[in-house]
Amino acid sequence: MYLKSLELQGFKSFPDKTTIRFSDGMTAIVGPNGSGKSNISDAIRWVLGEQSTKSLRGAKMEDVVFGGTARRGAMGAAQVTLILDNSAGQFPVEAAEVMVTRKYFRSGESEYYLNRKRVRLRDIRDVFMDTGLGHDGYSIIGQGRIDEILATKSTDRREVFEEAAGVTRFRTRKEEAERKLDQTAENLVRIRDIWNELD
Ligand code: ATP
Repeated sequence: MYLKSLELQGFKSFPDKTTIRFSDGMTAIVGPNGSGKSNISDAIRWVLGEQSTKSLRGAKMEDVVFGGTARRGAMGAAQVTLILDNSAGQFPVEAAEVMVTRKYFRSGESEYYLNRKRVRLRDIRDVFMDTGLGHDGYSIIGQGRIDEILATKSTDRREVFEEAAGVTRFRTRKEEAERKLDQTAENLVRIRDIWNELD
């Protein structure tokens, strides 16, 4: 599995449509301070569903949209598309490539697409869960993240290992099932109360 390409438009310091193609193997992105290197890794995390504005180094989600410069006006929307190779079938998508697109409008609306089909954020998360690439995955280690992992509580650190071991998917499903069970138990109590009143 490897990143094939990343396309940015209106995202942070990339107002124009910019396509970065990665080949198999190692890629290094170099450039002067403030030239947008970290914005590229922000874009990868963002398109995969990152919701934390803090980890995207902004104060609000709108900060991912190109905010304009002295010579160029701000844009109304940001769009990022990531293409990953799936020839080995690592992702649960029946295609040789996985194409994820996220659009965000200043008005606050978000759109997600998986292989050009409109989906929910939840569907994107499902595809990348346990691959290390998803939300809170360990594939993208930002500046200071290693220190953060070492300094964090052991329960939080465990989440990183759970994602690597592939158990996040099961933990999430278990939590969902527990929530549904609680809800059903509450409904049963309510039904019993109504039943007793009618008796
Ligand atoms: P360093 O080497 O110092 O870590 P870098 O190459 O990683 O720098 P980034 O942090 O990716 O640089 O980019 C910072 C630049 O992106 C700044 O010039 C900032 O003004 C610009 N930038 C960030 N958000 C936006 C936005 N919404 N609109 C326009 N420009 C933005």
